[in-house]
Amino acid sequence: MYRTHPCGELRAANIGQTVTLAGWVQKVRNLGGMAFVDLRDRYGITQLAVDEHAAAELRAAIEGLGREFVVQAVGKVVERASKNPKMETGDIEVILSALRILSAADTPPFTIEEQSDGGDEIRMKYRYLDLRRGPLQRNMMLRHRMAQITRNYLDKKGFLEIETPYMISSTPEGARDFIVPSRLNPGEFYALPQSPQTFKQLLMVSGYDRYFQIVRCFRDEDLRADRQPEFTQIDCEMAFVEQEDVLNTFEGMARMLFKEVLNVEFEGAFPRMSWHEAMEFYGSDKPDIRFGMRFCNITEEVKGRDFAVFDTAEYVGAICAAGAAGYTRKQLDALTEWVKRPQIGAKGMVYIRCEADGSYKSSVDKFYSPDDLKKIAEKAGAKAGDLILILSGPRRQTLNALGQLRLEVAEQLGLRDKTKFAPLWVVDFPLLEWDEETQRFYAMHHPFTSPKKEDFSLLETDPGQARANAYDFVVNGVEIGGGSIRIHDSGVQAQMFKLLGFTPEEAERQFGFLLNAFKYGAPPHGGIAFGFDRFCSLFGGADSIRDYIAFPKNNSGRDVMIDSPAPVAQAQLDELFIDIKPLPGK
Ligand code: ASP
Repeated sequence: MYRTHPCGELRAANIGQTVTLAGWVQKVRNLGGMAFVDLRDRYGITQLAVDEHAAAELRAAIEGLGREFVVQAVGKVVERASKNPKMETGDIEVILSALRILSAADTPPFTIEEQSDGGDEIRMKYRYLDLRRGPLQRNMMLRHRMAQITRNYLDKKGFLEIETPYMISSTPEGARDFIVPSRLNPGEFYALPQSPQTFKQLLMVSGYDRYFQIVRCFRDEDLRADRQPEFTQIDCEMAFVEQEDVLNTFEGMARMLFKEVLNVEFEGAFPRMSWHEAMEFYGSDKPDIRFGMRFCNITEEVKGRDFAVFDTAEYVGAICAAGAAGYTRKQLDALTEWVKRPQIGAKGMVYIRCEADGSYKSSVDKFYSPDDLKKIAEKAGAKAGDLILILSGPRRQTLNALGQLRLEVAEQLGLRDKTKFAPLWVVDFPLLEWDEETQRFYAMHHPFTSPKKEDFSLLETDPGQARANAYDFVVNGVEIGGGSIRIHDSGVQAQMFKLLGFTPEEAERQFGFLLNAFKYGAPPHGGIAFGFDRFCSLFGGADSIRDYIAFPKNNSGRDVMIDSPAPVAQAQLDELFIDIKPLPGK
């Protein structure tokens, strides 16, 4: 037996016991007569001590230790003379009687402590060392726990965990596919699933009326902090359900996760907000409702004062930052520059300060009388001491910019508290989205999403207005999950493909199997998928999902640890009948 206890377990109650520990040397301190070693494993750290009376052999062994050596230590648990209340094991130490080096270690390229001195790149290259650090180990444990709670909850609700294949053909989530050449079928390729969407629907046709899978999905997209080329979904589907049933089932799951992992409970049902309301008042389909600052449409109020910018604007909207009238000129100028950045795209920003004495100070005083400003302030719900920020321009673009400004100001005012959680369901998404560039409709969710019954007729007359039975689960401005009630009628599905610009032949080629399956008795069904990595990072209070994935890729989609992707041998290409074209310009 290598150890009697893990390194995080010993307490005052163990004093007097002889124990054997095994782990990694985090630190050695030689203090003349005494020497101390911090021994670490994933359960914690225990201090080992050697005093001046120890055998010469033992003292020599300590001398020879370096950081990250793997050792086995035998000794007696004693009460520490100077206790360390910051350490869970800080009341005790182990007086060594024997030490065995199980594995020597080269000096690691960065310190393996709570705060490492290593930069991102080097820690990614030596990910296995970074994973030894406390913060990452806690992340992995959090992830594990969330997966277990999810499994238990769904199992209790009668869901079956069923695996679906990874080597399939294109799925319709709207990203690029990763493709895999087939040696047995030269010239043909599998696509890795962007999600198990079609398979989970087929499982409903097969009668497995409650399915789930914690499953890897693959999307070849440009990467950001909350995106990885391979990521994990909690993927679910249910038959004989309506939207309400799906929302209730998964609200239950979310509540259970919040309660069991974070001890956070919510009063009452999660709020529901229509997509329309979210866009109109928060400028986003994933509103952060930890704080107010809803938009106020003042397009009409500001017209007719000879201020051409507002007179010609399709939309003028305001947000009220409570208590922010103290913003300095410099801060306001900085915010104006911020909204003018190309990513935000506003032309400028107007402010109204609601001074403590009841007067108003604005950047458009020239055009608006104190009375005008008062009316605007009242409409925006501003009180003395508040700051009103106004953007104007084309409607969609301005709503979007105002949404981003709202988040930025909230960040500055400390309103985006990571320990506070504000979940909601965004519902009633439009079924379709018109794309100007390609002059065609795209499915807002995916082509299998059902229109609302009452909007069915719009498919013929005004498809852009049809709403979908689709929903997103949003927490703190992050889309954590999304799903829909599906079309289960092959006729309606064919009509949908037609609207999306598929010829009947294309629809048949890509999704014939599903259209066919629907001809053999398809139950009404619907489902949802949660971004598991995002769920974990939300719970962990982080913005990036990377640290909740054991072996993630960097922003160029590379695994710098194993150096992948990489060229393959010519023989492998020959077997696949693949020729690599020279890169342009090479
Ligand atoms: N397959 C969908 C997605 O990945 C989720 C769903 O509709 O269940 O977004």
